[in-house]
Amino acid sequence: MSLRDTLIRQIQQAGPMRLDAYMTTCLLHPTMGYYTTQMPFGAEGDFVTAPEISQMFGELIGLALAQTWLDQGAPAPFTLAELGPGRGTLMQDALRAAGAVKGFRDAAKVVLVEASPALVEIQRETLKDDSVTWVTDADALPQQPLMLIANEFFDALPVRQFIRQGDQWRERQVGLSDGVLAFGLAPAGPQPALDYRLADTGEGDLVETCSAYATVMAPVARRIAAYGGAALVIDYGDWRTKGDSFQAVQSHTKVGPLDTPGRADLTAHVDFEALATAAKGCLASTLTPQGVFLERLGITARAQALAGRLRGPALESHIAAHRRLTHPAEMGNLFKVLGLTAPQAAPPAGLETGPT
Ligand code: SAH
Repeated sequence: MSLRDTLIRQIQQAGPMRLDAYMTTCLLHPTMGYYTTQMPFGAEGDFVTAPEISQMFGELIGLALAQTWLDQGAPAPFTLAELGPGRGTLMQDALRAAGAVKGFRDAAKVVLVEASPALVEIQRETLKDDSVTWVTDADALPQQPLMLIANEFFDALPVRQFIRQGDQWRERQVGLSDGVLAFGLAPAGPQPALDYRLADTGEGDLVETCSAYATVMAPVARRIAAYGGAALVIDYGDWRTKGDSFQAVQSHTKVGPLDTPGRADLTAHVDFEALATAAKGCLASTLTPQGVFLERLGITARAQALAGRLRGPALESHIAAHRRLTHPAEMGNLFKVLGLTAPQAAPPAGLETGPT
């Protein structure tokens, strides 16, 4: 039975599904989910992420984390973790670059948080020269200082959507219309967790929430607050999101989110305010555009150094990659960076603390 038929049968039996349940099933169903069965990344896949565009991305992040580690007195041992590492490319580039910082590699215990067994195998191959362990939940990260990176991870976590009616909210659900998956709305009801959104929304406005932010962020924040370290979260989104950002991408093209369950990547924009709130006990940096962050870390100097060894098409694609990562009209502004540290620590390299 296809995933679509499985979902239809489930809705026939139990009634309309919440959007977060739909998203979790489509992405992580053990045998028919997107991350468990498809090869999402790269030109052949459905989308291209920053570490797959250029080695510079992972290198600079590795060096930023190493600098932050030095700033905090080079704690040893510490956990170097990544949430949702995809093909493992970012971690591979980060380890290579940060390996030049004395003591960093020996002190780092690398732990990858990955829900998809298929992607674990790809990460194992990419990182075969490194000593790496895997966990499926952030809760299982060791109790010690933690330096953590999450690139395009939080956008994959399941969201719920609510449409305002008076001072109440109607939840958007996935149901059936003429036997086909279709959006519907639950009856209006109070949502105390959304009281704070009554101030910046009006009748008919849509807001998104994600309870998994707290599930993942709370254990991360507890470790950083207690033992030190930092988290770097990079994703598309804003300080407070509004409107429908739920989308599906298949073969680099947008498709309807209910059209091809399990075959398209489903995402929503990240609400960084909600993420910072979920990081209890930590201090959030100013939300910073990716282009600004990478420039501060020296991407242009690194790009020039690499360009010296390249000719012809390789040089052209290297120049295009630099532009793609940093230019405001490409990923430079759409993607944002949030840093989290213990309240007394300096912000991670490339970021500032202050009013958001
Ligand atoms: N960071 C990578 C890949 C981003 S795609 C890159 O930049 O290329 C999202 C990643 O998160 C995938 O590896 C996916 O399998 C993983 N993932 C999605 N939901 C998850 C969850 N709930 N827990 C752990 N990993 C998850």
